[in-house]
Amino acid sequence: MAGMQLTVIGCSGSFPGPDSPASCYLLEAEGFRLVMDMGNGALGVLQRHTELFGIDAICVSHLHVDHCIDLSSYWVARRYAPDGSRPPIAVYGPRGTAERMAGFCGEGVASIRARFEIHDLDPQSREIGPFRITADRMNHPVETFGFRVEHAGWKLAYSADTGESEAVVRLARDVDVLLSEASFQDSEKNPPGLHLTARQAGEYAARAGAGQLVLTHLVPWYDRGRSLAEAAESYSGPLSAATSGLVLGPGAAR
Ligand SMILES: [Zn+2]
Repeated sequence: MAGMQLTVIGCSGSFPGPDSPASCYLLEAEGFRLVMDMGNGALGVLQRHTELFGIDAICVSHLHVDHCIDLSSYWVARRYAPDGSRPPIAVYGPRGTAERMAGFCGEGVASIRARFEIHDLDPQSREIGPFRITADRMNHPVETFGFRVEHAGWKLAYSADTGESEAVVRLARDVDVLLSEASFQDSEKNPPGLHLTARQAGEYAARAGAGQLVLTHLVPWYDRGRSLAEAAESYSGPLSAATSGLVLGPGAAR
């Protein structure tokens, strides 16, 4: 059987862009579908790539709107499906995920938990379906987890949102693909502890020995050509910018 594949559903940074929802990635292997993040607009585009209820588990990196708000829309879909409410689905997120979704949905926490089997993320490894998922804490204003995903020898790291952090290097050690946020471009004005520049993403990819770097969380007001050029100055391996619909991984050709 072909290996895992990752489909970029949304890669727009901080808010949706004209060509992409905010953060959302679909991982598939052995018939199991895991969604990482569900930012604004993700649930719509996700349905181009899988059935609405074809998802088996969800990981949420952090509770900023551009990474989680469509999880509340997904709760609505599962709760009010015309042929009956869907059974609880596993959701892995930071502490407070149930309370945040309750606020978004205008529901009580118990009502959210009736549809979402919520597990608190910790900096550790666990099996989710056929995937081995390692979470690590990132450098961001709210509790945020980046992920390393392994399946049948293929390895991917996803930075989520982060300022400068050695956790990026730890998660991305010898991965086939580093999917790194690159929200910023070179500037003296970038606030610290929030996001990476494309150049920093390239530096981490080089230090980690990543086989390929894909820039993501690209903010619509920045020119992605310049982001790629800045990353290319610090990383000499295969480099690209994510687009909605991009498919990566050994299963990509199937
Ligand atoms: Zn964020």
